[in-house]
Amino acid sequence: LKGGIVDFNPCLKHKLIRKTVREFAENEIRPIAAEIDHNARFPEEIMQKMRGLNYFGLQAPREMGGAGLDSISYAIVVEELSRVAAGVGLCITVHNSVAVYPLLQFGTPEQKKRLLPGLISGERIGAFCLTEANAGSDAGGVETLALKQEDGYVINGAKIFVTNGGVCGLALIFAVTDPDKRGRQASVLIVEKEREGFQRGRDRGP
Ligand SMILES: Cc1cc2nc3c(=O)[nH]c(=O)nc-3n(C[C@H](O)[C@H](O)[C@H](O)COP(=O)(O)OP(=O)(O)OC[C@H]3O[C@@H](n4cnc5c(N)ncnc54)[C@H](O)[C@@H]3O)c2cc1C
Repeated sequence: LKGGIVDFNPCLKHKLIRKTVREFAENEIRPIAAEIDHNARFPEEIMQKMRGLNYFGLQAPREMGGAGLDSISYAIVVEELSRVAAGVGLCITVHNSVAVYPLLQFGTPEQKKRLLPGLISGERIGAFCLTEANAGSDAGGVETLALKQEDGYVINGAKIFVTNGGVCGLALIFAVTDPDKRGRQASVLIVEKEREGFQRGRDRGP
Protein backbone atom coordinates (compact mmCIF):
# COMPACT_ATOMS: atom_id res chain seq x y z
CA LEU A 1 0.00 0.00 0.00
CA LYS A 2 1.24 3.51 -0.89
CA GLY A 3 -0.76 6.31 0.71
CA GLY A 4 -3.84 4.07 0.94
CA ILE A 5 -3.59 3.00 -2.72
CA VAL A 6 -2.65 -0.54 -3.72
CA ASP A 7 0.63 -0.42 -5.62
CA PHE A 8 0.58 -3.02 -8.40
CA ASN A 9 4.11 -2.26 -9.56
CA PRO A 10 6.49 -5.15 -9.00
CA CYS A 11 9.17 -4.48 -6.39
CA LEU A 12 12.86 -4.82 -7.19
CA LYS A 13 12.93 -8.43 -5.95
CA HIS A 14 10.05 -9.43 -8.21
CA LYS A 15 11.62 -7.67 -11.20
CA LEU A 16 14.86 -9.53 -10.56
CA ILE A 17 13.07 -12.89 -10.29
CA ARG A 18 11.25 -12.24 -13.58
CA LYS A 19 14.51 -11.32 -15.30
CA THR A 20 16.36 -14.37 -13.97
CA VAL A 21 13.62 -16.87 -14.87
CA ARG A 22 13.02 -15.25 -18.28
CA GLU A 23 16.72 -15.59 -19.10
CA PHE A 24 16.70 -19.24 -18.05
CA ALA A 25 13.55 -19.99 -20.04
CA GLU A 26 14.77 -18.17 -23.14
CA ASN A 27 18.27 -19.66 -23.08
CA GLU A 28 17.54 -23.22 -21.92
CA ILE A 29 13.94 -24.03 -22.79
CA ARG A 30 13.14 -21.92 -25.87
CA PRO A 31 15.53 -23.84 -28.17
CA ILE A 32 13.69 -27.12 -27.51
CA ALA A 33 10.17 -25.83 -26.70
CA ALA A 34 8.61 -26.68 -30.06
CA GLU A 35 10.40 -30.02 -30.25
CA ILE A 36 9.24 -31.27 -26.82
CA ASP A 37 5.64 -30.35 -27.65
CA HIS A 38 5.88 -31.94 -31.09
CA ASN A 39 7.33 -35.19 -29.74
CA ALA A 40 5.33 -35.12 -26.46
CA ARG A 41 8.67 -35.63 -24.73
CA PHE A 42 9.47 -35.01 -21.06
CA PRO A 43 12.68 -32.89 -21.14
CA GLU A 44 14.70 -34.62 -18.45
CA GLU A 45 17.81 -32.62 -19.46
CA ILE A 46 16.02 -29.36 -18.56
CA MET A 47 14.56 -30.83 -15.39
CA GLN A 48 18.04 -31.77 -14.26
CA LYS A 49 19.11 -28.11 -14.54
CA MET A 50 15.91 -26.99 -12.81
CA ARG A 51 16.55 -29.32 -9.88
CA GLY A 52 19.85 -27.52 -9.24
CA LEU A 53 18.10 -24.14 -9.39
CA ASN A 54 15.44 -25.03 -6.78
CA TYR A 55 12.45 -25.04 -9.15
CA PHE A 56 11.03 -28.08 -7.32
CA GLY A 57 10.89 -26.40 -3.92
CA LEU A 58 9.81 -22.91 -4.91
CA GLN A 59 7.73 -22.13 -1.81
CA ALA A 60 9.19 -24.71 0.53
CA PRO A 61 11.03 -23.16 3.49
CA ARG A 62 14.73 -22.49 3.04
CA GLU A 63 15.60 -24.56 6.11
CA MET A 64 14.15 -27.57 4.26
CA GLY A 65 16.20 -26.83 1.16
CA GLY A 66 13.48 -24.88 -0.65
CA ALA A 67 13.63 -21.45 -2.25
CA GLY A 68 11.16 -19.95 0.28
CA LEU A 69 9.49 -17.73 -2.34
CA ASP A 70 6.47 -15.55 -1.60
CA SER A 71 3.31 -16.20 -3.65
CA ILE A 72 3.86 -13.32 -6.10
CA SER A 73 7.39 -14.51 -6.86
CA TYR A 74 6.04 -18.03 -7.34
CA ALA A 75 3.39 -16.79 -9.78
CA ILE A 76 6.07 -14.87 -11.71
CA VAL A 77 8.21 -18.02 -12.02
CA VAL A 78 5.29 -20.07 -13.39
CA GLU A 79 4.27 -17.21 -15.71
CA GLU A 80 7.76 -16.90 -17.18
CA LEU A 81 8.21 -20.66 -17.67
CA SER A 82 4.74 -20.95 -19.26
CA ARG A 83 5.44 -17.99 -21.54
CA VAL A 84 8.08 -20.14 -23.26
CA ALA A 85 6.76 -23.69 -22.68
CA ALA A 86 3.34 -24.13 -21.08
CA GLY A 87 4.00 -27.80 -20.36
CA VAL A 88 7.15 -27.07 -18.35
CA GLY A 89 5.23 -24.40 -16.39
CA LEU A 90 2.47 -26.89 -15.67
CA CYS A 91 4.89 -29.60 -14.55
CA ILE A 92 6.48 -27.18 -12.08
CA THR A 93 3.24 -25.68 -10.77
CA VAL A 94 1.51 -29.04 -10.27
CA HIS A 95 4.56 -30.38 -8.44
CA ASN A 96 4.84 -27.31 -6.20
CA SER A 97 1.16 -26.44 -5.67
CA VAL A 98 -0.60 -29.77 -5.38
CA ALA A 99 2.15 -32.14 -4.24
CA VAL A 100 4.68 -30.21 -2.11
CA TYR A 101 2.20 -27.67 -0.71
CA PRO A 102 -0.44 -30.11 0.63
CA LEU A 103 2.28 -32.22 2.21
CA LEU A 104 3.78 -29.13 3.85
CA GLN A 105 0.37 -27.99 5.09
CA PHE A 106 -1.33 -31.23 6.01
CA GLY A 107 1.32 -33.97 6.19
CA THR A 108 2.14 -35.64 9.48
CA PRO A 109 5.62 -34.89 10.90
CA GLU A 110 6.69 -38.37 9.81
CA GLN A 111 5.40 -37.90 6.24
CA LYS A 112 7.09 -34.52 5.97
CA LYS A 113 10.41 -35.85 7.21
CA ARG A 114 10.34 -38.88 4.94
CA LEU A 115 8.83 -37.47 1.76
CA LEU A 116 9.53 -33.75 1.48
CA PRO A 117 13.32 -33.82 0.94
CA GLY A 118 12.97 -35.95 -2.22
CA LEU A 119 10.18 -33.74 -3.55
CA ILE A 120 11.89 -30.44 -2.78
CA SER A 121 15.11 -31.56 -4.45
CA GLY A 122 13.10 -32.75 -7.47
CA GLU A 123 14.48 -36.27 -7.17
CA ARG A 124 10.83 -37.32 -7.00
CA ILE A 125 8.34 -35.42 -9.13
CA GLY A 126 4.89 -35.10 -7.59
CA ALA A 127 1.52 -35.85 -9.19
CA PHE A 128 -2.05 -35.08 -8.12
CA CYS A 129 -4.45 -37.83 -9.16
CA LEU A 130 -8.07 -36.78 -8.99
CA THR A 131 -9.61 -37.00 -12.48
CA GLU A 132 -11.14 -40.25 -13.71
CA ALA A 133 -13.10 -41.22 -16.81
CA ASN A 134 -16.33 -40.56 -14.87
CA ALA A 135 -15.16 -37.86 -12.48
CA GLY A 136 -13.76 -34.48 -13.52
CA SER A 137 -15.36 -31.30 -12.22
CA ASP A 138 -17.50 -33.50 -9.99
CA ALA A 139 -14.81 -34.65 -7.57
CA GLY A 140 -17.50 -36.43 -5.53
CA GLY A 141 -17.91 -38.89 -8.39
CA VAL A 142 -14.50 -40.52 -7.84
CA GLU A 143 -14.84 -44.29 -8.23
CA THR A 144 -11.34 -45.35 -7.13
CA LEU A 145 -11.63 -47.34 -3.92
CA ALA A 146 -9.10 -47.58 -1.09
CA LEU A 147 -10.04 -50.38 1.25
CA LYS A 148 -8.41 -50.64 4.64
CA GLN A 149 -6.49 -53.83 5.39
CA GLU A 150 -4.59 -54.79 8.50
CA ASP A 151 -1.34 -53.26 7.26
CA GLY A 152 -2.53 -50.37 5.09
CA TYR A 153 -4.84 -49.80 2.14
CA VAL A 154 -5.44 -51.58 -1.15
CA ILE A 155 -6.27 -49.05 -3.87
CA ASN A 156 -8.21 -50.01 -6.97
CA GLY A 157 -8.80 -47.55 -9.76
CA ALA A 158 -7.45 -45.67 -12.77
CA LYS A 159 -6.84 -41.95 -13.23
CA ILE A 160 -6.62 -39.82 -16.37
CA PHE A 161 -5.19 -36.44 -17.41
CA VAL A 162 -2.61 -36.53 -14.61
CA THR A 163 0.12 -33.92 -15.09
CA ASN A 164 3.52 -35.54 -14.41
CA GLY A 165 1.68 -38.90 -14.34
CA GLY A 166 4.20 -40.65 -16.56
CA VAL A 167 7.26 -39.48 -14.62
CA CYS A 168 6.08 -39.07 -11.04
CA GLY A 169 7.94 -40.49 -8.07
CA LEU A 170 5.10 -39.77 -5.69
CA ALA A 171 1.37 -39.58 -6.32
CA LEU A 172 -1.39 -38.08 -4.20
CA ILE A 173 -4.38 -40.24 -5.06
CA PHE A 174 -8.01 -39.37 -4.36
CA ALA A 175 -9.98 -42.46 -3.42
CA VAL A 176 -13.19 -43.39 -1.61
CA THR A 177 -12.24 -44.91 1.74
CA ASP A 178 -15.73 -45.52 3.09
CA PRO A 179 -18.25 -46.26 0.32
CA ASP A 180 -21.02 -46.94 2.86
CA LYS A 181 -20.80 -43.55 4.52
CA ARG A 182 -23.21 -40.86 3.39
CA GLY A 183 -21.37 -38.78 0.80
CA ARG A 184 -18.95 -41.69 0.22
CA GLN A 185 -16.04 -40.50 2.32
CA ALA A 186 -13.00 -39.75 0.17
CA SER A 187 -9.37 -39.41 1.22
CA VAL A 188 -6.04 -38.60 -0.36
CA LEU A 189 -3.50 -41.40 -0.19
CA ILE A 190 0.22 -40.86 -0.68
CA VAL A 191 1.69 -43.49 -2.97
CA GLU A 192 5.36 -43.81 -3.87
CA LYS A 193 6.10 -45.18 -7.32
CA GLU A 194 7.77 -48.29 -5.91
CA ARG A 195 4.52 -49.52 -4.33
CA GLU A 196 3.47 -52.93 -5.61
CA GLY A 197 0.85 -52.68 -8.33
CA PHE A 198 1.35 -48.96 -8.96
CA GLN A 199 1.53 -48.28 -12.68
CA ARG A 200 2.36 -44.98 -14.31
CA GLY A 201 0.92 -44.15 -17.69
CA ARG A 202 3.04 -43.51 -20.73
CA ASP A 203 5.29 -40.45 -20.50
CA ARG A 204 3.46 -38.01 -22.76
CA GLY A 205 5.72 -35.03 -22.15
CA PRO A 206 5.04 -32.08 -19.87
C1 LIG B 1 -3.68 -29.14 -18.79
C2 LIG B 1 -4.44 -30.03 -17.84
C3 LIG B 1 -3.80 -30.58 -16.75
C4 LIG B 1 -4.52 -31.41 -15.89
N1 LIG B 1 -3.86 -31.97 -14.82
C5 LIG B 1 -4.55 -32.76 -13.99
C6 LIG B 1 -3.88 -33.36 -12.87
O1 LIG B 1 -2.67 -33.16 -12.63
N2 LIG B 1 -4.60 -34.17 -12.07
C7 LIG B 1 -5.91 -34.43 -12.28
O2 LIG B 1 -6.49 -35.16 -11.49
N3 LIG B 1 -6.57 -33.87 -13.33
C8 LIG B 1 -5.91 -33.06 -14.18
N4 LIG B 1 -6.56 -32.50 -15.25
C9 LIG B 1 -7.95 -32.82 -15.47
C10 LIG B 1 -8.88 -31.69 -15.03
O3 LIG B 1 -8.84 -31.50 -13.65
C11 LIG B 1 -10.27 -32.08 -15.53
O4 LIG B 1 -10.21 -32.05 -16.94
C12 LIG B 1 -11.30 -31.13 -15.01
O5 LIG B 1 -11.54 -31.40 -13.65
C13 LIG B 1 -12.61 -31.23 -15.80
O6 LIG B 1 -13.06 -32.52 -15.82
P1 LIG B 1 -13.53 -33.24 -17.18
O7 LIG B 1 -12.44 -33.09 -18.21
O8 LIG B 1 -13.99 -34.62 -16.83
O9 LIG B 1 -14.75 -32.38 -17.69
P2 LIG B 1 -16.29 -32.40 -17.13
O10 LIG B 1 -16.28 -32.39 -15.65
O11 LIG B 1 -16.96 -33.55 -17.84
O12 LIG B 1 -16.78 -31.04 -17.70
C14 LIG B 1 -17.08 -30.86 -19.09
C15 LIG B 1 -17.77 -29.53 -19.25
O13 LIG B 1 -18.98 -29.46 -18.45
C16 LIG B 1 -18.95 -28.34 -17.58
N5 LIG B 1 -19.57 -28.72 -16.29
C17 LIG B 1 -19.18 -29.71 -15.48
N6 LIG B 1 -19.96 -29.78 -14.39
C18 LIG B 1 -20.88 -28.79 -14.54
C19 LIG B 1 -21.97 -28.33 -13.73
N7 LIG B 1 -22.28 -28.93 -12.58
N8 LIG B 1 -22.68 -27.28 -14.18
C20 LIG B 1 -22.38 -26.68 -15.34
N9 LIG B 1 -21.37 -27.07 -16.14
C21 LIG B 1 -20.63 -28.10 -15.75
C22 LIG B 1 -17.49 -27.97 -17.41
O14 LIG B 1 -17.31 -26.59 -17.11
C23 LIG B 1 -16.92 -28.33 -18.80
O15 LIG B 1 -17.13 -27.26 -19.70
C24 LIG B 1 -5.89 -31.67 -16.11
C25 LIG B 1 -6.53 -31.08 -17.20
C26 LIG B 1 -5.82 -30.27 -18.04
C27 LIG B 1 -6.55 -29.65 -19.22
